[in-house]
Amino acid sequence: MLEIKNLHVKLEEEDKQILKGVDLTVEAGKVHAIMGPNGSGKSTLSYVLSGKDGYEVTEGTATLDGEDILEMEPEERAAAGLFLAFQYPVEIPGVGNMTFLRTAVNAQRKARGEDEISASDFLKLVRERAASLEIDADMLKRPVNVGFSGGEKKRNEILQMAMLEPKMCILDETDSGLDVDAMKLVAHGVNALRDQGRGFLVITHYQRLLDHIKPDVVHIMSNGRIIKTGGPELALEVEKNGYADMKAEVA
Ligand code: ADP
Ligand code: MG
Ligand code: MG
Repeated sequence: MLEIKNLHVKLEEEDKQILKGVDLTVEAGKVHAIMGPNGSGKSTLSYVLSGKDGYEVTEGTATLDGEDILEMEPEERAAAGLFLAFQYPVEIPGVGNMTFLRTAVNAQRKARGEDEISASDFLKLVRERAASLEIDADMLKRPVNVGFSGGEKKRNEILQMAMLEPKMCILDETDSGLDVDAMKLVAHGVNALRDQGRGFLVITHYQRLLDHIKPDVVHIMSNGRIIKTGGPELALEVEKNGYADMKAEVA
């Protein structure tokens, strides 16, 4: 479903190559994890896939169900079914969380050629999904992420994901800074969305999230490349031995 081939990316401002040939395929129904030391290019990969400014693709391709996503505007990527939960969710003062969610859901339905969701169906759906993430009614009424704690912001990202029902979900360090309970809620939200038709790319610095979101495949990224791919045992190996051995092995 998501197919990344030989992706090379540099910063637009500086002449600095960050991704140096990333190859990665995430099949429908699978959860792939990317781990790797700080500065290896994990967030850059998620930013480039989301269409954030400031990055230049110098070589390679990225497609979703065969469609070139790198050519799309960020909103077209979302309409195509790509969702990204960021390491640092943005605050949107003046826009109510509920209004934001409904607008996003309807924009996506429109892009798919579907009718708008009715107010009552939307309300029912958002309340049900918010409850499962322990997001209370008050948080739904407040401006998007404004004054939310770290854990609330991340849970809110997962709520957005649950409402949009994307084909391909990318989570960049959605666990960082979370206490165990908040992390479990995030994991629960992701697990509830696991589905044969949906793929996940879970980027995480630590193994502990992967105790709760059991990945099918684990990739290790270092210095702008995937240096190793394996099963869940690879995450345990990292936890035990760090990245140094893997880097040395590859070198
Ligand atoms: P990770 O998410 O794996 O920690 P990043 O993708 O955030 O790694 O960063 C990869 C490398 O690119 C790092 O060396 C980082 O300093 C550099 N980098 C990323 N974005 C920028 C930027 N906007 N300006 C300067 N350097 C950047
Ligand atoms: Mg980092
Ligand atoms: Mg990062």
